[in-house]
Amino acid sequence: MSVQREAHAGAACNNAMIIDVHIHLFPRKVREHREEYCARDRGFAAIYASPNARIASDTEIIRYLDDAEIDKGVVFGFPWGDPDLVMRNNDEIWDLAERHAGRIIPFAVLSSEDRAAAGKEAERTLGNGFAGLGELAFYDLGWTAPVAAGMQPVLDTAAALGKPVLLHVNEPVGHQYPGKIAIDFASLLEMIETNPSVTFILAHFGGGVFVYHLMPEVRAAFQRTYLDTAASPYLYDPRIFRVASDIMGEDKILFGSDYPLLSLPRYLKQLEKADVSSTTRAAILGGNAQKLLHL
Ligand SMILES: [Zn+2]
Repeated sequence: MSVQREAHAGAACNNAMIIDVHIHLFPRKVREHREEYCARDRGFAAIYASPNARIASDTEIIRYLDDAEIDKGVVFGFPWGDPDLVMRNNDEIWDLAERHAGRIIPFAVLSSEDRAAAGKEAERTLGNGFAGLGELAFYDLGWTAPVAAGMQPVLDTAAALGKPVLLHVNEPVGHQYPGKIAIDFASLLEMIETNPSVTFILAHFGGGVFVYHLMPEVRAAFQRTYLDTAASPYLYDPRIFRVASDIMGEDKILFGSDYPLLSLPRYLKQLEKADVSSTTRAAILGGNAQKLLHL
């Protein structure tokens, strides 16, 4: 830890790391020719056809971490349909992680369309040092029972190698926004229940599914399930931090920004309004991710 970071940590009244578990980086070609990739991938177009949807470069990601005084960032791509584009995206993430060893934690995306290719890519990436899988999403198909069933080979690989799987889960209710898909909680819970040795990270506070943790059978299934906070300022009242910590346990909530959608300061404001204890705050901002990812 640098002198500067020590001062920062001291000012924040804790010595825990700050880790952002939800940062997106897309291939350079995609950043330079966005329209072309919107035409090629319906899931991508659903979110990024709008010029207002920001796409960050590797340089911007490092600058964000520096400016926000974030120790480490989990970086991943987009779940393209095209398996070649998935590989390219993962390779560029790996390259960034190598250039910033210890600072960038690479997660691998998988094809949302080609299940066989997804299985192979999970083996290739996790077998070669990627720290986890994610953000896995099905922006075109939505989350359904067949989609969940198709993930089994990938989940088996993650379980065998002891690596977490970060899933896009949004709310089944509320306002519409680009990238919001239909979510079948029943098949999501069934998948989690039938894979007790997989560590799941459900993005976006798991779309609120955590409330069922109050049911004993769901609590049992959620033993290795975490939530990330991505996009919460756009979705929830700040009390979500307190409620989710209370229901799931403060050790199960991981700060994720969804950068470049949002960055750390917006979450700090929510945390402040949520009025959680300094221990809970430190756990959410990095302590939990540090333990989960063995950092
Ligand atoms: Zn997401």
